[in-house]
Amino acid sequence: KDSRKYSGLVEDCCCDYETVDTLNEEVLHPILQDLVATPFFRYFKAKLWCDCPFWPDDGMCRLRDCSVCECPENEYPETFKKPFRGLSVDDLKCQEGKPEAAVDRTLDSKAFKGWVDIDNPWTNDDETDNAEMTYVNLQLNPERYTGYTGPSARRIWDAVYTENCPKYPSGEFCQEKRVLYKLISGLHSSISVHIASGYLLDESRDLWGQNLELLYDRVLRYPDRVRNLYFTFLFVLRAVTKATDFLEHAEYDTGNLSEDLETQSLVRQLLYNPKLQAACPLPFDEAKLWQGQNGPELKQEIQKQFRNISALMDCVGCEKCRLWGKLQVLGLGTALKILFSVDGQDHMNHSLQLQRNEVIALVNLLNRLSESVKFVKEMGPLAEKISDKQ
Ligand code: FAD
Repeated sequence: KDSRKYSGLVEDCCCDYETVDTLNEEVLHPILQDLVATPFFRYFKAKLWCDCPFWPDDGMCRLRDCSVCECPENEYPETFKKPFRGLSVDDLKCQEGKPEAAVDRTLDSKAFKGWVDIDNPWTNDDETDNAEMTYVNLQLNPERYTGYTGPSARRIWDAVYTENCPKYPSGEFCQEKRVLYKLISGLHSSISVHIASGYLLDESRDLWGQNLELLYDRVLRYPDRVRNLYFTFLFVLRAVTKATDFLEHAEYDTGNLSEDLETQSLVRQLLYNPKLQAACPLPFDEAKLWQGQNGPELKQEIQKQFRNISALMDCVGCEKCRLWGKLQVLGLGTALKILFSVDGQDHMNHSLQLQRNEVIALVNLLNRLSESVKFVKEMGPLAEKISDKQ
């Protein structure tokens, strides 16, 4: 087999595989790892307990690793805090029963200081209904194997692909629909890669590690899935760099000056990275899309499809998978909003408005994709070797 299986330009993108791997390893991955650990980026506001709008609840995953531990109130950054509203002890218990993982389902309007509440036409989430929302510390709830599998999981993926985003034979349909398919497939690959990199090897000993057979079986043996992962990474990276004006001046205040300055500094290192600008200044060229005669109608149609995909995340029957599913679909929706919310105008950055949660989702999604690209690059050859021997 080739020592470098993927070479040349990433399909529909402007950078080649080798450059992406080098940039990711040397620049993007280290910055993103630090960024997502900062107080601003590690707390995600989520509505985790919604009814599925498409079919009756088909039973939650019962495994311990499915459940999410939310933030105890004393863990929030200072500016997120609010007066205690007399929650009962039951409200403050995490399903896993760990004291540090208590639940607080109330929210402070202060958490949105300096941030607007603005609709995202690409997603289904209603961010205004604070009563049902909660903060989750993403660092305490890593995306990894949960044991969520079988008909419930299959039904979601089938609905995502079949109802909303049919698998078009390449070239037969317009480029825009292919982009949507590739984004979903790239996200799916990334989720599978995280299952493979954080796998429960021995439940009785609570032993976690890598499962390279799973990596091969679910991702590597289908080169398209690897290509779609790289495509999605570059697409989201382009959205982040396109939103530079907004992200540079956004409010990262969490009440701890030194940590907040560090957050700002990391954001700038990401946005103004000389290596990135030299090697891959335009990761994806969005100006090529929606140029056909029926561009506006097509955009509306695809927007509706993506909103359906976003709504489907409420049907994911495992809390932790739902958390990361919601976050990453919101991240993709945010990337779509940044790249396409103003019809092909170059100066759209001036009117771009993002919600706090959108920014958190976007950056955490980019980090997840970056982790997946790194894992595939580093472990791919070994996983292929193991599969050859079997
Ligand atoms: P699945 O991954 O369920 O795939 C179903 C079918 O989709 C495949 O047979 C194939 O035809 C197609 N397919 C697979 N990958 C791709 C791709 N990249 N591109 C195009 N088509 C593809 N499980 C966890 O353990 N941890 C999680 O954090 C987690 N998060 C999830 C989040 C969401 C939103 C969903 C819907 C599921 C999540 N799951 C998670 C479940 C996990 O994704 C799988 O569904 C489960 O492990 C069963 O895998 P499978 O082998 O049946 O194939």
